[in-house]
Amino acid sequence: MSTLEIKNLHVSIEDKEILKGVNLVMNTGEIHAIMGPNGTGKSTLAQSIMGHPSYTITEGEILLDGEDVLEMEVDERARAGLFLAMQYPSEITGITNAEFMRAAINATREEDNKISVMDFIKKLDKHMETLNMPEEMAERYLNEGFSGGEKKRNEILQLMMIEPKFALLDEIDSGLDIDALKVVSKGINSMLGDSFGVLMITHYQRLLNYIEPTFVHIMMDGRVVKSGDANLAKRLEAEGYRGIRDELGLDI
Ligand code: ADP
Ligand code: MG
Ligand code: MG
Repeated sequence: MSTLEIKNLHVSIEDKEILKGVNLVMNTGEIHAIMGPNGTGKSTLAQSIMGHPSYTITEGEILLDGEDVLEMEVDERARAGLFLAMQYPSEITGITNAEFMRAAINATREEDNKISVMDFIKKLDKHMETLNMPEEMAERYLNEGFSGGEKKRNEILQLMMIEPKFALLDEIDSGLDIDALKVVSKGINSMLGDSFGVLMITHYQRLLNYIEPTFVHIMMDGRVVKSGDANLAKRLEAEGYRGIRDELGLDI
């Protein structure tokens, strides 16, 4: 089992404090959903865990199995087992999707344990089938000309190929039609187990109908203000954020 601990995390962008003391502990085998109004710092949290350079950590800690993540470069964080699927995946010309994934897998492995071409192709075929992806998508340049839905599917394919310890999924449900959402959820659900944990950022209960969270956290104004189980998301759907604000006496 692995543990990702976020302790009293404060993060600023251009001197504006966005995260104001986030606390969160996740173990592999668990699915954590983060919900919260727009602009509350959900993406900032995911980007800060992964080490995006625009975000300045002013206070607090992020530990992966006790190791200081904040001391690691982005690629070291990936090698340590962290993976971020982004709200807006970027396009990269000149490297095919398959080349990218093979390099990403091998980057996490020792010299004498690189994945063979045969094993890579077998694994790729299997996962692309799960995700109903046409074979040619593996040979296209990374995300170039992919539709929004294809990009999301491709992020999940990368996740399944790379098999990180913790996946951070930032609004992977946005812009997906119901069929694509089912496929993406199927891919994520196929990875669940003792050695894999998920932090899932979403605006909508809908995604949680397909991927059942162990814990739901509500973020408001740069903090986790309430945590609960899957019922908390259902309550949000019914009451909106107003109910939570009133209960907690929050004026935000
Ligand atoms: P969420 O994902 O919850 O919608 P974000 O983490 O994207 O929220 O943003 C939190 C706050 O940080 C917002 O007020 C947003 O305007 C601000 N912000 C995000 N990115 C930047 C940036 N690159 N420069 C300046 N402000 C930013
Ligand atoms: Mg947003
Ligand atoms: Mg966001």
